[in-house]
Amino acid sequence: MKISAIVLAAGSGSRMQSSKKKQFMEIKGKPLVWYSLFAFEKYGVDEIILVTGSEDIDFCKKEIVEKYNFTKVKDIVAGGKERYESVYNGLKHISGDIVLIHDGARPVLTNEIIERGINGAIKDNACVVGVPVKDTIKIVNENNEVVDTPNRNTLWITQTPQCFKTTMIKEAYRAYEKVFAPGTDRSRITDDAMVMEQFGHAKVKFIEGDYKNIKVTTPEDISVVESFLQD
Ligand code: C5P
Repeated sequence: MKISAIVLAAGSGSRMQSSKKKQFMEIKGKPLVWYSLFAFEKYGVDEIILVTGSEDIDFCKKEIVEKYNFTKVKDIVAGGKERYESVYNGLKHISGDIVLIHDGARPVLTNEIIERGINGAIKDNACVVGVPVKDTIKIVNENNEVVDTPNRNTLWITQTPQCFKTTMIKEAYRAYEKVFAPGTDRSRITDDAMVMEQFGHAKVKFIEGDYKNIKVTTPEDISVVESFLQD
């Protein structure tokens, strides 16, 4: 069975307030996105598609893929304005039976997570990596007034990779594309599981992730992941 990975690095990273795009910021001497490429390369998925901004394709080719000799990176393709569009573009270039879709901004990606993801997708068709929430979560209205407090036992933090049988996630994305034509608001789709939940034919199952598998989003996340990344 052939395994593909899509590594997403086409975001603007506006919440990082940095002059350099967050996916290319240096963490322990390597660009942030290097860590997930390295994890997939080392673990031995069969192919990796790197999705980045069209203006960054050349940089990624020379300064990341060639420089660090990532032999599994089959293609570097342009992403879109929304995450959803970046994934959809990536999906058009994969040839694996199973696909792992991963945020390039999550550098603490272990062999165990990748293995659980692949096995989960083979067994259940669609699975996402995640962890139970530790805090109480509130739902608020536009005035920040609490309107509900969901039962904490039912809440999980969603991480990546999100792992699917390729035919099933492609089918879900195509169905979504029919309803939300280009130009409609796609910003509500913040992960791939949502597309499967709403437009696909597989039940999405959570599998055990890792509290260290955080997404670097704001400046304080950098020192946290630095402490998690082993030398
Ligand atoms: O915006 P957010 O932090 O949720 O993005 C998660 C991942 O998706 C990041 O790795 C980011 O580079 C990627 N992304 C993308 N294309 C977009 C938006 C986000 O590849 N249009």
